[in-house]
Amino acid sequence: MTQRRSTSLGPGRMLGILGHPVAHSASPAMHNAAFAAQGMHALYGAFDVPPPQLEKAIAGIRTLGLLGVNVTIPHKEAVMAYLDEVAPTARQVGAVNTIVNRGGRLIGYNTDGWGFLLSLEERGVRVAGRSAVVLGAGGAARAVALHLGMAGAGRLTIINRSRSRAEFLAADLARAKNPVRAEVADPGSEEARAALSEAGLVVNCTPLGMDPDTESTPLEDVGLLPADAVVYDTIYRPLETRLLREARRRGLITINGVAMLVHQGACAWEYWFGRRGPVDVMRAAALAALEERP
Ligand code: NAP
Repeated sequence: MTQRRSTSLGPGRMLGILGHPVAHSASPAMHNAAFAAQGMHALYGAFDVPPPQLEKAIAGIRTLGLLGVNVTIPHKEAVMAYLDEVAPTARQVGAVNTIVNRGGRLIGYNTDGWGFLLSLEERGVRVAGRSAVVLGAGGAARAVALHLGMAGAGRLTIINRSRSRAEFLAADLARAKNPVRAEVADPGSEEARAALSEAGLVVNCTPLGMDPDTESTPLEDVGLLPADAVVYDTIYRPLETRLLREARRRGLITINGVAMLVHQGACAWEYWFGRRGPVDVMRAAALAALEERP
């Protein structure tokens, strides 16, 4: 007699991403491809949660017995209020992108900065001692700047449209468990030009250049950068932003946001399953999803 495989997933095998909007997220394709590749009986969905529904959606993780979720824009900060515990790094970043359900107890983590560092390591970029400039001071910039500091970056400069937000981030970094010293500069200022002219790494953490506004750029003159600088754009729609295109034409090393997307997802597996996700499978699936819905 042939045995029929159960189509029921059973409790604790369902995961997903909470965001608003979320239909274009590449995360379901990325995680489901990884489950299939590893023969895992699990399912990852996309849940569109308008902000007023966030508290109920989080309670639903417990009620429905989801194993865990990712959290994306606009919920990464607000979600912390509804969790039972927030890991120290996520608290320092001020945002949660991964939640684990441990028997009804919801714990929040942030894997963006960790994924960012792994994506640099993958490309052979050493952070220790390297001067870095972070463009932006929002959620992504906070994760990136904190992890650059933790990884021993040399001079660290934050350039942001709102100076007060950059100063707030610099003050938080100075108060971190392992304090990080960061300078603040206004876009286009002498201080910004000086920092950029000796930057070994520039990371765009603003949405400037993101689809549909693809002719925007956070850096008008890539000619300011040293010839061996690495230019990293956290944006992945489009895969090559104007910033990356101009940097590539100048012969600089460029990295797009898919690397961070894939590694933050693979790191989330550490919390859900106790092991890192398969990066190559996840990258192929994310790229296919982005090509399908650029
Ligand atoms: P956020 O918290 O809203 O912060 C946005 C930052 O960009 C702020 O510093 C803001 O400056 C600045 N900004 C926004 N519009 C600007 C404009 N028109 N001119 C100049 N500066 C502007 O957003 P976020 O969550 O950090 O996300 C930022 C980017 O990171 C997005 O493009 C997102 O796709 C990317 N990201 C990628 C990944 C990945 O896995 N690859 C993960 C997370 C985020 P003010 O302070 O002056 O408002």
